[in-house]
Amino acid sequence: MAETKEFREQGKEMVEYIAGYIDTIEKRPPLAQVEPGYLSKLIPNAAPQKPDKWEDIMKDVEKVIMPGVTHWHSPHFHAYFPTGNSFPAILGDMLSDVIGCIGFTWIASPACTELETIVMDWLGKAVGLPEEFLAEGNGKGGGVIQGTASEATLVAFLAAKMKRIRKELESQPDKDQYDILPKLVAYTSDQAHSSVMRASLIASIRMRSLPSDEENALRGNVLQKAIEEDKAKGLIPFFVCATLGTTAFCAFDNLTELGQICEKENIWMHVDAAYAGTAFLCPEFRYLLKGVKYATSFNFNPHKWMRINFDCSAMWVKDEDDLVHAFHVDPSYLKHKHQGAVKDFRHWQIPLGRRFRSLKLWFVLRMMGIEKLQEHVRKQVQLAHDFEKLVLSDSRFEIVGSVILGLVCFRLKESNEINEKLLKEINNSGKIHLVHSTEKETYFLRFAVCASSTEQKHVQYAWKIIQELTNSILNGIPLSN
Ligand SMILES: *Cc1c(COP(=O)(O)O)cnc(C)c1O
Repeated sequence: MAETKEFREQGKEMVEYIAGYIDTIEKRPPLAQVEPGYLSKLIPNAAPQKPDKWEDIMKDVEKVIMPGVTHWHSPHFHAYFPTGNSFPAILGDMLSDVIGCIGFTWIASPACTELETIVMDWLGKAVGLPEEFLAEGNGKGGGVIQGTASEATLVAFLAAKMKRIRKELESQPDKDQYDILPKLVAYTSDQAHSSVMRASLIASIRMRSLPSDEENALRGNVLQKAIEEDKAKGLIPFFVCATLGTTAFCAFDNLTELGQICEKENIWMHVDAAYAGTAFLCPEFRYLLKGVKYATSFNFNPHKWMRINFDCSAMWVKDEDDLVHAFHVDPSYLKHKHQGAVKDFRHWQIPLGRRFRSLKLWFVLRMMGIEKLQEHVRKQVQLAHDFEKLVLSDSRFEIVGSVILGLVCFRLKESNEINEKLLKEINNSGKIHLVHSTEKETYFLRFAVCASSTEQKHVQYAWKIIQELTNSILNGIPLSN
């Protein structure tokens, strides 16, 4: 067929381009150096009537698209947290694209549902989750791939709400859900990701942001006090979102303390381990997972640190009925003869449609094995410690928080303004890219080890740039020691 002939040629060219992009990515500025609106000056304001030539399109990729790309997979990119990328994941996703099924029910593509169930068990075992989270155990637990951690939190939050409402109504048959809703209250820490508070805004349900301790962790005594206050007001505590690996500092809430309270108070505990979850592939980091047995649901993003391309957010629950009963609708066009006897993932998520995302997970797990992924984590944590040592070797700087995984928070022992200036100069240099955060009125810089191709020489290079810019900024300003 003419179309497939053309695709074979163009596909080869595209693979060539992709491989070349990765091979030479280091030469590109990690942060796009363009101004807002740059693109409308470079491309027409309406789609072509007749097909454009493939060659012209590919030329435009380099000419108009790439200048506006921030290169997340450059070894000079140290902003945010990493986002996954690997050739096995890309290959798996290509296959998903051509199958192009929408696996909302088992019958809509049995392999889509069954592979997802199985690889989520593989992954759950690989990160050391308790057996109750696996589908192969007592049959009630299991995993699902959501698009993002934000969706996983929202799904957990909404499911917890419905579960609690059902329970309250058992003893108050004269009431309905709208009597209970205004009394519900959820908790998270002041270090939780913005998506957690956003879940409460979307659902219009009260959530309290509780103060973290000096290690930036949410502790049991703070939660217990908030629960007592709220119960005294006649409110119903129903949900806690704990974080393993917070976005600002990569700090860890005390799951054991929080979990024991949740168990006693009949509260759903969701664990958001978006970034840090990948580290639990390595047994030596599982001490950070302590207390996970109390969780009702658990989530991490293989699309962050586990070399899987966006989107792939892995979520597990101990009891699938909590999700299936929460958002149940059953139109006749989605019914099928195996209904009830098989998993229909449409009940586990907010959208109806879903991609065959487990393929990329399966490809990565098989083509790399757990060992290669462990090596990747260990190497990146080591690189973060290398950077930490460099920071500590220069008395003008200090470390903020603790370096536990692949993130180093640091600052000049100077005013917030001088630190802001340093970050601005770093990003203007076009050589490396970092972002900042501000906590408890202290402005600091975040150095994350991101691209899988990051080596020690890139860490040293970044530090050299930071020191050079610091020298020029502090020129004329007396050093603090
Ligand atoms: C990155 C991050 C998120 C958001 O992840 P998405 O998949 O983009 O929604 C949520 N929580 C934490 C702790 C994160 O680091």
